[in-house]
Amino acid sequence: MTRQSVRYLVIGAGIHGLSTAWHLARRLESTGRGSGADVLVIDKGKIGAGASGVACGVIRNNYFQPAMRELMAHSVDVWDSDPEAFAYHPVGYLQIAPEEMRADVGQIYAEQAAIGYESELVDGADASRVYLTDMFPDWQAPGSSVVLHEKRGGYANNRASLHGLAAKALALGVTIRTGVQVTGVTVEGGAVTAVRTDAGDVACEQLVVAVGPWVRDIWAMLDLPSRIPVTTPDGTVHADTPMWTYWALQEGTLGVDPQTFTDSRGELPPVVHIDSSAPLYDDMDGTLVTDRMWGVYYKPDFSFGGVQGGASPVRLDRPAGDVAVDPYGPASPEFVVGDDFVRMWTSALAHCHKRFEGQRTLYKDEPSGGIGAFTPDSFPVFDTFRQNAYVIADSNHGYKMIGVGALVADEILGTPRTLLEPFRFSRYETGRLHPTSHSPFPWS
Ligand SMILES: Cc1cc2nc3c(=O)[nH]c(=O)nc-3n(C[C@H](O)[C@H](O)[C@H](O)COP(=O)(O)OP(=O)(O)OC[C@H]3O[C@@H](n4cnc5c(N)ncnc54)[C@H](O)[C@@H]3O)c2cc1C
Repeated sequence: MTRQSVRYLVIGAGIHGLSTAWHLARRLESTGRGSGADVLVIDKGKIGAGASGVACGVIRNNYFQPAMRELMAHSVDVWDSDPEAFAYHPVGYLQIAPEEMRADVGQIYAEQAAIGYESELVDGADASRVYLTDMFPDWQAPGSSVVLHEKRGGYANNRASLHGLAAKALALGVTIRTGVQVTGVTVEGGAVTAVRTDAGDVACEQLVVAVGPWVRDIWAMLDLPSRIPVTTPDGTVHADTPMWTYWALQEGTLGVDPQTFTDSRGELPPVVHIDSSAPLYDDMDGTLVTDRMWGVYYKPDFSFGGVQGGASPVRLDRPAGDVAVDPYGPASPEFVVGDDFVRMWTSALAHCHKRFEGQRTLYKDEPSGGIGAFTPDSFPVFDTFRQNAYVIADSNHGYKMIGVGALVADEILGTPRTLLEPFRFSRYETGRLHPTSHSPFPWS
């Protein structure tokens, strides 16, 4: 690539980069302010080389934080706009929770009703058991106090949806260039004027940074701080907080025929997410796996070839600067799931459904998992830095957030979006952080 110049340069061909490029092209064309030819996406790998390409693909609204729920509702509208192109399966989503989370889940339901997001609340242990055994005759997990059944959402096939997005962008004239790595950023007069790549410089008027787990590196190229002061809502200042912390996502596939995981109607069930404080025992040898609160999620998935899902992520106990992001995902020798995950996750499946008892030998013994870069409060940062560098740092919430690119495109073209306001970087200074829940997951 010889030196070139483009108005809108997007780094990263994952869910956010592709969605932003597509929506920018649409807005430019519809307003007569330009066209897709003004947008270039570059990626050091290929489409879906990062987290979006390995994501489980679960799409839910179930968040304790009102701002997250409103944002997810907007993204589900985008998924619903073209399920075929996005390989989206709108089967719905179940959150099954213990007594400790009952009030949180009830609050989520009430607030979903207030924003018109269709869901059903099943409150109380007896009612929950009846609801779940009606849905799954082999349901056997004890100790659930509440079920939230989201009637929208579900899951999508990771790479297929990215290619669907890319096709929409390409059809509007966007250029996607793969195998080009950004190695530096040129800032002049306080603004980004160009990025340096291993294939030459690219001058731009507006930069969009959508690099998922690699955000640490572009953040540093923008000369932004690796440690920041963070004010909590009670006014306490944590002076020297790491901007990025890596967590390893734990996911895998039980190699059963996905068609056999149906509900009592014989249809594909909602995505199941269960959090539980009941002791979890190994279904093969009866030993205790954990007596602390645990959580898993799973769904029948034809592209993964089985029942696919995961458990709580594991925080990497080292500074972000010491984490090798490459090689990424299943190619990483370090960050793929191990035997502990397989034991825990398959035991949890058996804890929930009789049909999964004694099935561990069918677990697909192939590398899986991936790491994510989390922000200081584990919620996204969507903001402009250096005057014209829009950073989309989703703190690993983001495959489901296909609509964020639409909002970012609006902001870049001059229309601020209130849905993104709660995710500004300034919240770390003002202390306007998001509320936290009782979930064992850092992202709920
Ligand atoms: C195992 C796993 C499962 C997950 N499951 C879910 C889920 O079920 N639901 C959900 O909502 N979220 C899920 N997530 C989180 C979600 O995948 C991410 O939040 C989201 O995909 C991030 O998208 P992105 O576009 O920001 O980045 P990515 O998809 O990571 O894309 C970034 C791209 O930037 C490119 N890039 C990086 N650095 C450079 C550079 N210097 N120059 C050029 N290109 C560069 C990379 O090659 C990559 O293609 C999961 C994450 C993991 C790891």
